[in-house]
Amino acid sequence: MGYEDVKFPKGSKFLVTGSAGFIGSNLVEAILRLGYQVRGLDDFSTGKKDNVEEFLDDSNYEFIEGDIRNFETCMRACNGVDYVLNQAAWGSVPRSIKMPQFYEEVNIKGTLNMMEAARQNGVKKFVYASSSSVYGDDPNLPKIEGREGSVLSPYSLTKKVNEEYGRLYSKLYGLDTYGLRYFNVYGRRQNPDGSYAAVIPKFIKQLLDNEQPTINGDGKQSRDFTYIENVIEANLKACEAPSKSAGEAYNIACGGREFLIDIYKHLSNTLGKDIQPNFGPNRIGDIKHSNADISKAGEMLGYEPDWNFERGIQAAIEWYKENL
Ligand code: NAD
Repeated sequence: MGYEDVKFPKGSKFLVTGSAGFIGSNLVEAILRLGYQVRGLDDFSTGKKDNVEEFLDDSNYEFIEGDIRNFETCMRACNGVDYVLNQAAWGSVPRSIKMPQFYEEVNIKGTLNMMEAARQNGVKKFVYASSSSVYGDDPNLPKIEGREGSVLSPYSLTKKVNEEYGRLYSKLYGLDTYGLRYFNVYGRRQNPDGSYAAVIPKFIKQLLDNEQPTINGDGKQSRDFTYIENVIEANLKACEAPSKSAGEAYNIACGGREFLIDIYKHLSNTLGKDIQPNFGPNRIGDIKHSNADISKAGEMLGYEPDWNFERGIQAAIEWYKENL
């Protein structure tokens, strides 16, 4: 269980793209703690300088400021690297509906650049962030790999295309790729600010600031909220996975289901706040329920998440109370 026991050859080097972001910076921190070398790559478009600067004193760490839309930058970043953890992308379903061409450029072209640079540099494993949103309008629960519906937003389409390229790069070029379909990740360093922020950090910050949060829809939507530690485990286990597990995409979740309104109540109670939420319209492109079957990642990657929702949300609340 967990990832403290994963072992890579001494001196192994990881490239984390999107390293100034929420998931990327947590990956950097975990890999440095395990004693391996890390190169980060980020253009600071949605990430924060603070998330990069806190590691600069570590001699195992280096950082390249650059854009994955630039192939030369991707080549430079992949030089001498054993494992790539590709997290750089623009998130948010509603924002992608407003700017589809930009999402195509960053999320599709950028990821293709990274895969090609990884291939040309002889990288051992290419692990990349996909998303639960590839399930689109499939109404079935739990979500299971191989039973996807039609995507509902440009963002989801970009992740679907990434997975197709991932499959092709394994099949045609022998690059071991692993797509990780993250389900609503939350935890330390996730950005609480702005209209596209994820609900958990946003609600915590608003409650701490005594503001009235808005729940989109009736609050009865459910999600398989996944604590960041589980996502770190999945990335590291994918780097250790055999080649026979490559070319595939995997649900990375907790395997549970939380209703938004219950999360809101839990956060208000834990933070000692008595603020009634405002209810707004449903968001276009959103689905009502989501919950993952995680058995494929268990069997093929050895993924065994050991942070359940109760444990994860407690740790997240503690972190925001200390750091906001
Ligand atoms: P984030 O916005 O915090 O991090 C993304 C990082 O990528 C940022 O630091 C940003 O500056 C960087 N970036 C964006 N465009 C870039 C470019 N062209 N070149 C270089 N760097 C660039 O988001 P996150 O939540 O950490 O998400 C990481 C990955 O996980 C993304 O691919 C996202 O789509 C995926 N994902 C996240 C979730 C979630 O719940 N957080 C769920 C599903 C999938």
